[in-house]
Amino acid sequence: MRRVLVVGCGMAGARFVRRLTALNPDVRITVFDGERHPAYNRPLLTGVLAGHYRSGDIALPLPPGIELRAGVRAGAVHRATRTVIDSAGVEHGYDALVLATGSRPEQPWRHPSRPERSSAGEHRLHTLTDCLRLSEECVGARSPVVVGGGLLGVETALVLAGRGLPVTLVHQGRHLMHRRLDAKAGALLRTVLEDAGVAVRAGTSARSLTGRTGVTGVRLADSSVLAADLVVSACGTRPRVGLARRAGLAVHAGVVVDDTLRSVTDPHIHAIGDCAEHRGVVHDTAVPAWQQAEVLAARLSGHDRHARFTGARTLTRLIADRLDLAVFGEATTGVGTGTGVRGGIEGAAQTDVLCLSDDRHRVYKKIVTRNDHVVGGILLGDLSTVDTVRRAYEATEPLPPNRLHLVTELGGEG
Ligand SMILES: Cc1cc2nc3c(=O)[nH]c(=O)nc-3n(C[C@H](O)[C@H](O)[C@H](O)COP(=O)(O)OP(=O)(O)OC[C@H]3O[C@@H](n4cnc5c(N)ncnc54)[C@H](O)[C@@H]3O)c2cc1C
Repeated sequence: MRRVLVVGCGMAGARFVRRLTALNPDVRITVFDGERHPAYNRPLLTGVLAGHYRSGDIALPLPPGIELRAGVRAGAVHRATRTVIDSAGVEHGYDALVLATGSRPEQPWRHPSRPERSSAGEHRLHTLTDCLRLSEECVGARSPVVVGGGLLGVETALVLAGRGLPVTLVHQGRHLMHRRLDAKAGALLRTVLEDAGVAVRAGTSARSLTGRTGVTGVRLADSSVLAADLVVSACGTRPRVGLARRAGLAVHAGVVVDDTLRSVTDPHIHAIGDCAEHRGVVHDTAVPAWQQAEVLAARLSGHDRHARFTGARTLTRLIADRLDLAVFGEATTGVGTGTGVRGGIEGAAQTDVLCLSDDRHRVYKKIVTRNDHVVGGILLGDLSTVDTVRRAYEATEPLPPNRLHLVTELGGEG
C-alpha cells in the first residue's frame, strides 16, 4: 500500500487528503499539523473575531481512516531514506511527501526572544488560537491599534470597529492596500473605514512597541509614540519553507515546484498552497491552494496522471459589514478619476482602463484590459458585476467592443 505523508492540515492539506481519500481509499495517509486544532477555514477567522461564527463552525471536514497527528510538527526530512522525523523524535517512512506548510506572519518589529511568543497586548491573527486570544483580550481595549493596511489589516480594523472599539490603523504606504489598489480606490477605502469609526494613519510605519510588561504604545518612524493597549500586527506573510530548505530542496520565495506540483529537486516530494512557488509565483490565497490540492490528489491517486496546475487567475474578495471589495490582477495600472464611465488608452500598448466612480455612494469600479483581455481590476462598494468580471478574467476569448456590462448591470453586452 502506498504511503503518503502530509505536512500541514490547513486549507491546502485538508482539501488534499479529502480528495485523495475519495479518489483512492487504498492510500495510507498520515497528516502532521503543529496546531492543536488544525483543519479549519482560515479566511473565516475574521468572521470568528466578528462573532459571526463560533470556532467549531469553521472546521474543515476530514475523511475517516487518515492518521491525523495534531499538535505534532514535522521536524526534519531525510530524503535519502525517505523518512520524516516528527517533533517527538518518531520516524515515519513515505512513498510521497506533501508539504502544505502554509505561511508565517511577518514580524514588524524585532523580538529579543522567541518570535512566536507575544507579550500582553501584542497580537496577530493567523491561527485560531491567535483569534480566540485576540477576541478575548480586545474586550474593553481603550486604544487598539492595527499595524498594516493590507487586506487583513483593513478587515481586522473594521471588525474591531464593528465591536465598538476606537481602533487606529497604521499603514506605511501612502494609501491603504497600496500594493493592490490605486490611489483613488485607496482614498475611497479610507473614507469607508473612517465612516466605520477607524482612524487611519497612512504614510508612517510602526518601528517598535513600548511598554515593559505589556504594550503601552507603538513607536512610529518619526519617533513619536501612538498610545496603544492592544496591537494587532498584520504586515503580510511569507512562505513557511524552513523544513524544505533544511532538506536541501530548491527554495526561492517558496518551495519551487513544476506544473505537476513536484519539487524540482526531488520527485518524491510535492508542495501545495502558500508554501509552494509555481512559475515564479507564490499564490497566497485560498482558491489556488485548493486548485493545487485537487491537481495533486488526482495525480497521486492515479485518477489522472496527466493533471497539471498551470496557474490561477483569482479574484480576492473582502466582504466586511460595511465594505464590499474585490481586487485582482494588474489593478494599479492607470488611475481613475471623476464620476461617470470612461475608458482611456494606457501607454503605447493596447491597454485600456474602464472606470466608474461614484464618490458620494463610495463606489469605484475599474477594469484594466490589454489586447481586449481583462488583466486586472477593482470593484469597491458594489459587487453586482463580480461574476461577470470573474468570467471575463478567466476567459481566453477577447472581450466584445461594449464592455460596460463589466462595471454596470445597465450596460448591454455588445
Ligand atoms: C485571518 C486570515 C484571513 C484570510 N483571508 C483570506 C481571504 O479572504 N481570501 C483568501 O483567499 N485568503 C485569505 N487568507 C489566506 C489563506 O488563508 C491562505 O492562502 C490559505 O490558508 C493557504 O492554505 P495553506 O494550506 O497553504 O496554509 P495554511 O492554511 O496556513 O495551513 C498550513 C498548516 O501547516 C501547518 N504547519 C506548518 N509547518 C508545519 C510543520 N513543520 N509540521 C506540521 N505542521 C506544520 C500549520 O500549523 C498550518 O495549520 C487569509 C489568511 C488569514 C490568516
